[in-house]
Amino acid sequence: MVMIYSDNKKIALELVALGKTLAPNLSGKVYAVTINQPDTVAKDLAAHGADGVHEVTTNITQFKAEEYANLLKDLVTEHKPDLVLIGSTKNGKELAARLAALLDTGCVMDATAVHAQGKTITAERVVYSGNGIAVEQFTSTPAIVSIPPRAAEPLPKNEHHHANIMKKQVTLKEYPSKIQSIQEATSEGIKVEDAEIIVSCGRGLKNKTDIQLVSDLATALKGKTVGCSRPIAADLKWLSEDHWIGLSGHKVKPKLYIACGISGQIQHIAGMRDSGVVVAINKDPDALIFKSADYGIVGDLYQVLPKLTSALKEHSA
Ligand code: FAD
Repeated sequence: MVMIYSDNKKIALELVALGKTLAPNLSGKVYAVTINQPDTVAKDLAAHGADGVHEVTTNITQFKAEEYANLLKDLVTEHKPDLVLIGSTKNGKELAARLAALLDTGCVMDATAVHAQGKTITAERVVYSGNGIAVEQFTSTPAIVSIPPRAAEPLPKNEHHHANIMKKQVTLKEYPSKIQSIQEATSEGIKVEDAEIIVSCGRGLKNKTDIQLVSDLATALKGKTVGCSRPIAADLKWLSEDHWIGLSGHKVKPKLYIACGISGQIQHIAGMRDSGVVVAINKDPDALIFKSADYGIVGDLYQVLPKLTSALKEHSA
């Protein structure tokens, strides 16, 4: 059996779909867990393919890793899944690690693929900034794997899909740590992780005001999302860290990624390597970025970008 959990509903639906591909080798069932989430979430998980949902409400209404990990440990001990998939959010990663420690079992973080052959479970993850893929085989049960967003497409909704929704009220033992306050990170409302089209800029730009060229192209593509390499956000501070893509920035998976004046160092590629179509614009024909691109334009971005933008505007008119 596969058990899935994420506090993010979209990721939870993706995990159900992923679980369904693995379940045939693991007794066939996918059970989702919701903790302190509205009834509608459990119903949606069921409609999108979960065979059962443990809908748990607790005395602790806010996420706390120690308490939630203990709750999941009890569910795992009772239902004995072979595999537990947890969404790789900040909360999810802490939860996965704690759960594995409590159960004294193995844990793979940010897996890019999971395989089940017979009862043998392996997970793949990117290592050395994307220079290698580690294939790790579990030797303990259950296998705990944290999965980044967009690992799978949610299954189509089917209101008639039968699933057992098991409601449970649990009183959790509270740990001494307390959340004093929660401060939302200040952001411009940009979520590069969710964008389907990203136009990204790097040190090929000469001035801060030239970002307008990149943003004009993004607008013409109806994408509106501007990303950047580390120097633009961290060193020059021309854009906020919300836009920063790469190993130490955000990991993105748009359908279209256009890299303008970005050299393509491995630390940048680590954040955008899962993009659908990659277009690179760089004046250096030997720039590394072309190795990661589906389409390359060798040219000066100051000439290429205005032409591309006006061609797109003409086309959409
Ligand atoms: P550059 O490497 O300077 O490249 C600029 C490019 O623009 C060149 O290829 C040049 O040919 C081209 N160019 C110049 N003028 C023009 C023009 N007029 N028209 C077209 N092309 C032009 N980087 C990240 O991006 N994200 C990360 O998360 C990240 N994390 C890191 C973590 C660590 C631990 C370390 C050590 C580094 C990290 N870096 C990261 C930095 C990374 O190694 C590179 O230094 C960085 O990505 C380079 O940014 P860039 O491509 O914008 O600049």
